[in-house]
Amino acid sequence: MTKVIVKDKAFVPFLPEAAVQKEVARVARELTRDLGDKSPLFLPVLNGAFMFTADLLRHFEGACEVCFIKLASYAGTQSTGAVREVIGLAADITGRHVVIVEDIVDSGLTMAHTIATLRKHNPASISVCTLMLKPAALHVEVPIDYCCMEIPNDFIVGYGLDYDGFGRNLREIYVLAPQEA
Ligand code: 5GP
Ligand code: MG
Repeated sequence: MTKVIVKDKAFVPFLPEAAVQKEVARVARELTRDLGDKSPLFLPVLNGAFMFTADLLRHFEGACEVCFIKLASYAGTQSTGAVREVIGLAADITGRHVVIVEDIVDSGLTMAHTIATLRKHNPASISVCTLMLKPAALHVEVPIDYCCMEIPNDFIVGYGLDYDGFGRNLREIYVLAPQEA
């Protein structure tokens, strides 16, 4: 792994592919242990969680369903973007064990809002599974049930995560080079 340029910024290696895969497999085992016999409904959040979800579910053992959702900024408000609506929820989640799958929890605002929205549909349970968590950036209390890795408060790309739309296809995880930050 070497330095990469994504759009107009330099990023340096943070975590190699094998290390990412090891943590994803570990979390999949935890999910299998807890939900393997509960027919969970996975709700991955597009776009960032697509690659993580593909690998995670290949390791999940048991019956399950998947429904990708997207969080759209609420139009017509003067909000700074924190207020978002959940779109694409095709499945009926009433009485289901749902698992929200996210790429990264930063301030936690997005996740808190998503949980509150989903709760209105009366699922049997809501669990949160995130690839990465920035503990130092958390602004609100969010229950994180499954987490592949805790990371410092830096800007990350790769493995589904983007910088201005680019970098999602990188197999490893990269961090913004110190001189760019
Ligand atoms: P939060 O509402 O927790 O502050 O923001 C979560 C969302 O912000 C993530 O789902 C992700 O889309 C974006 N985000 C937060 N930190 C990073 C980061 O380091 N890199 C990238 N690419 N996106 C991030
Ligand atoms: Mg995300």
